[in-house]
Amino acid sequence: RFSKLSIQPPIEVFNLMKAYQDDPYEKKVNLSAGAYRTDQGEPWVLPCVRKVEAAMAADTSLNHEYLPILGLEAFSQQATALVLGGDNPAIVNGLAFGVQTLSGTGALRVAAEFLCRQLGFNVFYYSDPTWGNHGLVFKSAGFTTERKYRYWDSEKRGIDFDGMIADLKDAPPNSVIILHACAHNPTGCDPTLDQWKQIAQVIKEKELFPLFDIAYQGFASGDADKDALVVRYFTSLGFELIICQSFAKNFGLYNERIGNLTFVVNAQEVIAPIKSQLSIIIRAMYSNPPNHGARIVATVLSNPEYNQEWRECLKVMSGRIREMRELLRGKLESLGTPGTWDHITTQIGMFSYTGLNSKQVETLVKKYHIYLLRSGRISMCGLNRNNIDYVANAIYDVVVG
Ligand code: PMP
Repeated sequence: RFSKLSIQPPIEVFNLMKAYQDDPYEKKVNLSAGAYRTDQGEPWVLPCVRKVEAAMAADTSLNHEYLPILGLEAFSQQATALVLGGDNPAIVNGLAFGVQTLSGTGALRVAAEFLCRQLGFNVFYYSDPTWGNHGLVFKSAGFTTERKYRYWDSEKRGIDFDGMIADLKDAPPNSVIILHACAHNPTGCDPTLDQWKQIAQVIKEKELFPLFDIAYQGFASGDADKDALVVRYFTSLGFELIICQSFAKNFGLYNERIGNLTFVVNAQEVIAPIKSQLSIIIRAMYSNPPNHGARIVATVLSNPEYNQEWRECLKVMSGRIREMRELLRGKLESLGTPGTWDHITTQIGMFSYTGLNSKQVETLVKKYHIYLLRSGRISMCGLNRNNIDYVANAIYDVVVG
């Protein structure tokens, strides 16, 4: 029965992480994983998360009973308020709600199942390039037509805005448009507010459906509210939309798989039927979500003291990344590395699209044990004061050839 199966290409980022782990070379550097590291190169459990976990462990009133199919209500309310702003008219008027999902990927998958199977959407668009999982998730959920809108202009190392608008104008009505709300993965380039206004106009005119993927709220600017501006702008225009939130990065809860799927709708009557349909989808996929991350996030966000501490952590993480951007660019420039490197500091969020080609990447991996994606994307989090000289020198070497 199983003999007809072939081996599929490995998932690049997980493959690189494994290769890095298995590599005995002392100076190896991991710039592939999208996970925060301290300046000592260690994972960081946020202090507010540790405190809540300690309190949870000591609280004998807590247990391991099932959560409802749609998850912990207290979590979803906090998560929805975090992305939309607590005073958003959509929330005040009861036109927004969230359901707990298995991190950002789970939110995307449930959203895609819902849009495809319940509403009959079958065309989806994502940016070229995008996070490597968008296509797989949407196709696996039943979408038949996968399309890209232009996004990255490799010449100017910035957004090909005219191309993006032209492609969106060409999209058939009811296409789902996946938009990165902030800190675009992999390019680190977000549209300006003025560009978002034009994007919103095309989406409205062409009757497209906006779906925001927000996996880095707070990571781009260090301010969670600022990073959600575009979502709030779209809701202020009266769009019905979906938002897929991940708490992997901004809470450091990668393996807890904690996410939220938010709906903003135009009438309260549609909420009960949507929730009912989502319940069926989730029941069939995994029945109900885990509790641990949901309780942590709900507790931190609802407690003013912890909430403040968490916002400080966002500043620490985004600040360290910005510092690494400055250092890397400075070192590449002072070495006289051919080419321009200002994009390293103009890009934002966890990643930088370096512009290194696949040959150069291969040399970095093979000769220098510096692990990064073939596309030239690096996670800034993997850089620290101990390895930045080594990395800058290696980049210089591969660019000079
Ligand atoms: N969307 C984007 C753009 C991402 O970069 C990621 C994480 N790499 C996700 C969604 C989802 O991640 P997770 O499922 O770990 O929350």
